[in-house]
Amino acid sequence: MIEVSTLTKSKCCLCQSAVRTAGAPSAVFAYFCPIEKSPCVAGGRWSCGIAQGRYFTQSGRRLTVVATYFADEFIEWQQQGKATLIESRFEAHHIDGHVLVVAATDDDAVNQSVFEAADLRNILVNTVDDQPNCSFIFPAIIDRSPILIAISSAGTAPVLARRLREKLEAILPAHLGPLAQLVGAFRDKVKQKIDGFAGRRQFWERVFDSSIVREVQANRLDVAQQQLEDLLEREIPTQGEVYLVGSGPGDPELLTLKALQLMQQADVVVYDYLVSEPILQLVRRDAELVCVGKKAGAHSVAQEETNNLLVSLALSGKKVCRLKGGDPFIFGRGAEEIEVLLPHGIPFQVVPGITAAAGCAAYAGIALTHRDYAQAVQFVTGHCRKDGVEPDWQSLSRPNQTLVIYMGLMKVEHIQQQLLAAGRAATIPVAVIENGTRADQRVFTGKLSELASLVAQHQVQSPALLIIGEVVALQQKLNWFGDRPDQQAQQPLTNRI
Ligand code: SAH
Repeated sequence: MIEVSTLTKSKCCLCQSAVRTAGAPSAVFAYFCPIEKSPCVAGGRWSCGIAQGRYFTQSGRRLTVVATYFADEFIEWQQQGKATLIESRFEAHHIDGHVLVVAATDDDAVNQSVFEAADLRNILVNTVDDQPNCSFIFPAIIDRSPILIAISSAGTAPVLARRLREKLEAILPAHLGPLAQLVGAFRDKVKQKIDGFAGRRQFWERVFDSSIVREVQANRLDVAQQQLEDLLEREIPTQGEVYLVGSGPGDPELLTLKALQLMQQADVVVYDYLVSEPILQLVRRDAELVCVGKKAGAHSVAQEETNNLLVSLALSGKKVCRLKGGDPFIFGRGAEEIEVLLPHGIPFQVVPGITAAAGCAAYAGIALTHRDYAQAVQFVTGHCRKDGVEPDWQSLSRPNQTLVIYMGLMKVEHIQQQLLAAGRAATIPVAVIENGTRADQRVFTGKLSELASLVAQHQVQSPALLIIGEVVALQQKLNWFGDRPDQQAQQPLTNRI
């Protein structure tokens, strides 16, 4: 019997919302288990059980095979001590004491009785090519033992799973196996020497960033081992740091490589509401997630509280990824958060992200500048200054320039009035982009005189961006994302699997 207990991720300390699910939950549950007892492959004729048998014997498992006829490969395995062959028709007692059974005969009735016998005994059973009669399925495997990668499409698209495997096979270096073996041999030593999970994790991060990896790659295992020992001897005390990272407007494929790398290294990720769920999925699984909100009009953590949190986390030795929507230095208060680190001498890095204006415009088919339509582009916030001073509407209303307004939803009527009053033509095209670059992106276009009614009529929700200017006229032509199925055939090669 297999006992299953669930471990929940530690909840985020401020809004307790760190649940990681993307779309529908998976129909299968993935886990790896060592098989101490021998699995049993049951069957009649063996044309179809060889692949499974090979998988078990190659991974060092001893097989028991029940069949009335054995293919040569099985006889060879018996001679090599890898399999016990029982020449018999299948009977239920054959699987007693086994943990895993594969029904792989060419006789549906036999397969059915194997499945029923196993199911009754709560033994995991796979019936080859018969998914309803499976209590487990074999994934597509990439083997860099002891690193093992399993891919499943939950039985929906085995060919897609196989193609993914081929892609991963091609990019995963062969030295992964020896590298994992080397570090595996050091685990106990490291445990004795370094107290605490976080400290050990940081040690291993340093190892994987070091020349040790290159030495293993070059098959100089002795050198690699010596370097690992040296690194452990001069164990560096853990020092906290802050990575201020822009996560872009929402499509996870718009993350920079550096953003992804730091999201994977962080002990804690402090994020706000603009960071999309698919991006949070890419954070290291066991990192702590802290949500600090920041939605106009909704509950959010005060900026000062966020600043203090960053300082205290970093001072406690944690690697903190401050993950922000778009670019951290464009309407992101990134500078304020960095300034508070300075008096404490906390090291930091800033990683730019694709700002909403660039991302949303590209995914909506709007070129922000164009030689014939706009020679300049301005990014402005729709939020009024605390002192109530209005922006320079005259300069924002000049012709042949594009105006991109962040956080403009709540003041959209005022914005429309002011631009018209300052002389911008009522017929100038405008676009409202909601959830830009995300699967649920919506784009509405019209004239400046219709801007507020576009927002009201379509009940546009935050996050949304307003774009005003002559360039929007081209949107119908340049639009490509989402609702143009005829464009799919022209997808770049990199998107093809
Ligand atoms: N630092 C961010 C902007 C933060 S201000 C950046 O560089 O993009 C928040 C505003 O950005 C939102 O109110 C909205 O106007 C805009 N925004 C951010 N992501 C967006 C998205 N995916 N779609 C539309 N607007 C977005």
